[in-house]
Amino acid sequence: MRTEILRADETAIEHAAQIIRSGGLVAFPTETVYGLGADALNADAVRKIFIAKERPFDDPLIVHIAHVHQLELLARHIPQRAWDLVKKFWPGPLTLVLPKTDRVPSVTTGGLDTVAVRAPAHPIARRLVELSERPIAAPSANRFGRPSPTTAQHVREDLDGRIDLILDGGPTPIGVESTVLDLTQDPPMILRPGGVTLEALQEILGEVRLLGSALSEAAKRSPGTRWRHYAPQAKLILAEPAELEQIVGDVLRSGRRVGVMIRESRLWTAADSLRVIQMPLDLSEYARRLFAALRELDAHGVEVIVVERVEERGLGRAIMDRLRKAAQTPPQ
Ligand code: AMP
Ligand code: MG
Repeated sequence: MRTEILRADETAIEHAAQIIRSGGLVAFPTETVYGLGADALNADAVRKIFIAKERPFDDPLIVHIAHVHQLELLARHIPQRAWDLVKKFWPGPLTLVLPKTDRVPSVTTGGLDTVAVRAPAHPIARRLVELSERPIAAPSANRFGRPSPTTAQHVREDLDGRIDLILDGGPTPIGVESTVLDLTQDPPMILRPGGVTLEALQEILGEVRLLGSALSEAAKRSPGTRWRHYAPQAKLILAEPAELEQIVGDVLRSGRRVGVMIRESRLWTAADSLRVIQMPLDLSEYARRLFAALRELDAHGVEVIVVERVEERGLGRAIMDRLRKAAQTPPQ
C-alpha cells in the first residue's frame, strides 16, 4: 500500500492528529527536517517508529511539544539555565536533554533516564502537536542511516507503505537537525551540533562543551551518534579544496562514476561519469541543500561522492558533523 501524502492544510493536520491519538505514525515537516511522529507517551506507538525506520531500539527519540508547560510533564529538575534557553531559542531548533519523569516510557528514550525535548517553530509541526493534545516523539523521517528527509518526497522514498500519512509542507527551511544540548552536566555539552550554533549558546551559557568526535565518548553520551549516519549509498570522501581535483581525477581513472559537491566554481572537463553539484557559499543555504544533494547524487547512480569541506563555524559545524558521519564506514 502506498502511503498517502496530503498537503498540510487544517483538515489534513486534523486528520493527522487523529492518527497520532490512535497510536499511528505521521511524517510532518519541522523547520529542521521532516520528522516521523507518534504519541510520545504511548509505548506501542513509539515502538512502531523504530520498526518503520529500522532504527536500533537504544537510539533515543526527541519529544516535540507545542507549549513550554508541557516540558514539566516530561522533565524533572529543570535548572534555571534551561528556562533561559527556552526563553531565547524556543520555539526553534534546540533540543534539551534533562532527567525524565516516569510518564515518559523508556522506549521513547532508548532506555535512558533522560529525555530530549524541543518545541519546533514550524507552524505545521506546532499545529499537529497542539491538535494531537500530546507530546510527539519524532526522529527524522528517513530509513535509519540514510540522509535526513527535507521534502515529503524524500520521506516517501524511504518509508512508503510503512507509515500512515505524510503531511507535505514543502521543503524544510533549515535542512539540518536540531542542536542537542545535554543539561544534565556542567558545563552543558552539545551532543549534536545543529540549527542553533555553539556561538549562540555561548552567549547565554558562557562555557559550553562540544562532544568529542572520539567514537567511544559519543557512544556513551548520545547513542544516536554511533554509527554511519546521514549516508548516501555512494562512498563519501571529504576533501580539502586543494586536493579535490586530484581525488576526483583518481576516482574517474579507476573507472567509477563520481559526484562532486563544491562551492567554488571550477572548470571541469565534461565526462559522462562526472556529476557536479554547485553548493552555495552561504552556510544557511548550504545546510538547506545538503541532504537533497546527497540523495540527488545517489539517484544518478554515482559510486563515489567527493565533497569539499566547509568552514567549522556557525552552521558549518553541523554541516561538517553530518558529512563526517556520512563518510564513516559502517560497523563490522
Ligand atoms: P533524530 O531525531 O533522528 O535526529 O535523532 C535524535 C538524536 O538525539 C539521537 O540520535 C540522539 O543522538 C539524541 N538524543 C535523543 N535523546 C537523547 C537523550 N536522552 N540523551 C542523549 N541524546 C539524545
Ligand atoms: Mg535522524
